[in-house]
Amino acid sequence: MTEPRVPFNRAYTTGFEIDYMSEAIRETRLSGNGPFSERCSRWLEQRTGARRAFMTHSATGALEMATLLAGISPGDEVIMPSFTFTSTANAVVLRGGTPVFVDIRPDTLNLDEQLVEDALTAHTRAIMPVHYAGVPCAMDTILGVARDYDLVVIEDAAQALGSTYRGRAAGGLGDLGAISFHETKNVMCGEGGALLLNDGRLVERAEIAHEKGTDRRRFFRGEVDKYTWIDVGSSFVLSELNAAFLWAQLEHADEIQQLRRRAWELYHEALAPLEESERLRRPVVPSDCEHNAHLYHVLLAGDVDRAAFLTTLALHDVDAVFHYIPLHTSPAGVRFGRAAGSLPVTDTVARRLVRLPLWAGLDEHHVDRVVDALSTALGLTGRPQRAPLL
Ligand SMILES: *Cc1c(COP(=O)(O)O)cnc(C)c1O
Repeated sequence: MTEPRVPFNRAYTTGFEIDYMSEAIRETRLSGNGPFSERCSRWLEQRTGARRAFMTHSATGALEMATLLAGISPGDEVIMPSFTFTSTANAVVLRGGTPVFVDIRPDTLNLDEQLVEDALTAHTRAIMPVHYAGVPCAMDTILGVARDYDLVVIEDAAQALGSTYRGRAAGGLGDLGAISFHETKNVMCGEGGALLLNDGRLVERAEIAHEKGTDRRRFFRGEVDKYTWIDVGSSFVLSELNAAFLWAQLEHADEIQQLRRRAWELYHEALAPLEESERLRRPVVPSDCEHNAHLYHVLLAGDVDRAAFLTTLALHDVDAVFHYIPLHTSPAGVRFGRAAGSLPVTDTVARRLVRLPLWAGLDEHHVDRVVDALSTALGLTGRPQRAPLL
């Protein structure tokens, strides 16, 4: 009997999503900022320590709202890694700013905090650290540079819900933070996101930007007798149907994270012998970070042909994928952004990185199959035996 494919992702559902969505329909509360959105916001504030959490239609929307609130304007430069998703950079370009791409650390693949200061100019306004794979950046150094040069810190924590840095929640560390609930993230609602606000001075402005530039929130609280256009804004809100779905997931967030952590640890243990063979390197997590097991990636040795490697995995019914094309080499990155010098780590990592299947529920049998396929693809015959437990 042929075994089914090991998919790269398998979205997890709790079974309660439909009940909460039915409730939203019964109550006909379907547009944004309704009761389920409120519950999700309060949960996020409690878990991350953020002053306020605004539910958005995506992390992309949250990042765009963040650059709007941070006052990014034409001519402003914003420091970010090149090894990230397009949304980080688009949020800056849409405000007329210039993304300045800085290299990443070879261990965590996060923005190299030691290179930030050298990339600053008189035009730098903000830093956007991205917590790749849900492993937080070295935030104390980044926040220190921001303090010294009066810069805004916008965390792209799209992958990092549930991760902590020195005991503090990712997304709650900078002035603003964006979380994603896209189907591919740990906790999801199809399309969704949140903007975490840690700077209390931005709250009033954020309520207005969130609701198409109006004081609709104040109107519903009875603070004004009609609502009107106050400032620049857009429709950043999350539909209540999505918020209802998301609430079921947030209620089970710890369980989902445990399942993913288990899968991550299984890979990490099973791949130790392959790392010893020096054919690949496993992910590195600094001791002051707790990560949410968003993804499991390996870096192939320099002489491994990645395309052939992925083809071999596919032939063994294992769906593995590479990741970002560095933004500084992409057509829009060249047009709208600028690299701060050469980015050798980014260039190398982007060529050698492979993401393995990881989802809540992936078990020993899946891991065995993936690791066997990996060994074959690396030309290592037979998989080294896992050490006995005792
Ligand atoms: C997923 C992701 C985004 C975009 O999230 P959406 O909710 O799909 O808009 C942005 N940045 C990073 C680093 C991501 O992983």
